[in-house]
Amino acid sequence: MSYKCIYNGTILTMNEDRHIIEKGAIIIRDREIIEIGDCKELLSKYHDCEMIDGKGGIIMPGFINGHCHVSMSLFRTLGEDVPDRLRKYIFPLEENIVDEKLVRVGAKLSMAEMILGGVTTFVDMYYYEDEVAKVTKEMGMRAILGESVLNKKTPDSHKPYGGIDYSINFIEKWKKDDLIIPAIGPHATYTNDGEHLLKIKDIAHKYDVPILMHLSEMDFEIERFKNEYGKTPIEYLDSIGFLCEKLIGAHCVYTTDNDMEILKKNRVSVIHNVGANAKSARPIAPIHRMLKKDISVGIGTDGPMSGNHQDIISVMHQYTKFQKVREGDRSIASALSAVELGTIRGAKAIGLDKIIGSIEVGKRADIIIIDTNTPNMLPLYDYYAGIVYGAYASNVTMTMVNGKVLMKDRKLLTTELSHIYDEVSQMKDIILNMIKS
Ligand SMILES: [Zn+2]
Repeated sequence: MSYKCIYNGTILTMNEDRHIIEKGAIIIRDREIIEIGDCKELLSKYHDCEMIDGKGGIIMPGFINGHCHVSMSLFRTLGEDVPDRLRKYIFPLEENIVDEKLVRVGAKLSMAEMILGGVTTFVDMYYYEDEVAKVTKEMGMRAILGESVLNKKTPDSHKPYGGIDYSINFIEKWKKDDLIIPAIGPHATYTNDGEHLLKIKDIAHKYDVPILMHLSEMDFEIERFKNEYGKTPIEYLDSIGFLCEKLIGAHCVYTTDNDMEILKKNRVSVIHNVGANAKSARPIAPIHRMLKKDISVGIGTDGPMSGNHQDIISVMHQYTKFQKVREGDRSIASALSAVELGTIRGAKAIGLDKIIGSIEVGKRADIIIIDTNTPNMLPLYDYYAGIVYGAYASNVTMTMVNGKVLMKDRKLLTTELSHIYDEVSQMKDIILNMIKS
């Protein structure tokens, strides 16, 4: 058995009491946290441990990116600042260009960025999701992965709704994995009809897997459901019996008060992607109000084409500021609430709070260290405010997933960054050539 000890730092446990342990230590056996406490006490008790020095920084649960499309990193900065980017630019580009190699290279680049920024778990929906799963295993991250299902042909399916068959095979292949949780990903309300959505719900219940979906995100989506059904998309999904606790809905920027009641009644989780939403000039989701209604909420980056960054520190920062502006109240959306969304609440929203999201005995060791001895972090009177308002992703100095160190002192240990850069450069040439032709 292998033992590790993370010591010499302030532990933000994010447990139910939000307990903070100054000069704390954590003992890890294999993938599990087995003891948490005073540094001196634990160091005298455990001897044969691999020691990880916190150097006086913050030791906390790894961040959870509740919604992304990792492979889209290779499209970052293409077609920026244009109207209706999804239908005019992204969909046509994907149809012509996305293949297994692009998915692998893009996924690797995003995962490198996430590990360097302290993200330990992410939720992804895209194409060739089996390739994303393989890269996730190589890199050592934890992930919920869902193949996208659309009512049209996609890069990996020649027929509409081909993603359903793909998903069944994918789920059966990965269902027992320790780090990968397979899911099914109906792309959105406007790319899936009611009949297929109910079929997808049946599959999710049969295999006991999450459903990942873009929800109440687009202006044309709201228009269409209003014209066709006289309902919001969320009211429509409720009326056909699709909503359930397995659904993790990304965005929900157009939610009405009635929509919020429906989400709560059906225990649907919401993932807030404020950076990507703001860049697309969408409304800011009423997250403060959702939290008051006890709706389960997490945060995400969305795809790197939409949100560019793949780190959660910047999303926590944006969440607090946009909610304060939205509600006209600087006292809401506290730094603590942001860290909760990035850790334990995020874990709950994706159904993994029993194993991750906080530093507690019996949970998996998904832990990061944030360096506080830097100009942007000093002085530090309030740990949560320091992280949310002051930290950069580059302040993260150690990332551990399932007891395994993936990054230490800013060096990735499960991959070689220079190899990734070479592959990205090759892919950039291929993409540019295809766009020109
Ligand atoms: Zn998305």
